[in-house]
Amino acid sequence: MQVVVTYRKTSRLSMRIGKNGEVRVSAPTGTPEQVVRRFVEEHRDWINKALVKTAERHEKRREFFDQLPLTTRQECREAAERMNSIIPPLVEKYSRLMGVKPVGITYKATISKWGCCNPKSKRIMFSAYLLLLPEWCIEHVVVHELAHLIVPNHSDKFYAVMDTYFPRWREARAETKKISRMEAEE
Ligand SMILES: [Zn+2]
Repeated sequence: MQVVVTYRKTSRLSMRIGKNGEVRVSAPTGTPEQVVRRFVEEHRDWINKALVKTAERHEKRREFFDQLPLTTRQECREAAERMNSIIPPLVEKYSRLMGVKPVGITYKATISKWGCCNPKSKRIMFSAYLLLLPEWCIEHVVVHELAHLIVPNHSDKFYAVMDTYFPRWREARAETKKISRMEAEE
């Protein structure tokens, strides 16, 4: 079991399971190591249960992404072809509606992000794993990235843009999370 302790200005000890299954303890500055150790010991049951849950979630997540194997050249080429038949038409449609002009679109086999937009260069990256989502969820990601050409951050203004061009963005986001069992960045 890997335990990572962070000392900070807090009044009590707390813990959570990190992304890689490590136990992350947050402790008030100056807490003796012994106290931290005891805290971890006392919560061993909770930790074990949480670790099992995390492992299960990882497994399900892996199963999800394994549905689209992208190891051979052939697989990558096929995925790129499918992306090319779905993404550009959506980008075109919404660019016109939203009055934006992206200059470049790329695809990557990224599992941490569905898409990524650089508002300065106006380049947008889309994850090839979007192919595992229903079309309306793909559409949501396209509109989301294009909306960043209008508002770079995730402020209220950004979501107002989403309300205008893709009113079901909340549902789409929840559905995407449910299907992929992950919290991805957009
Ligand atoms: Zn975003």
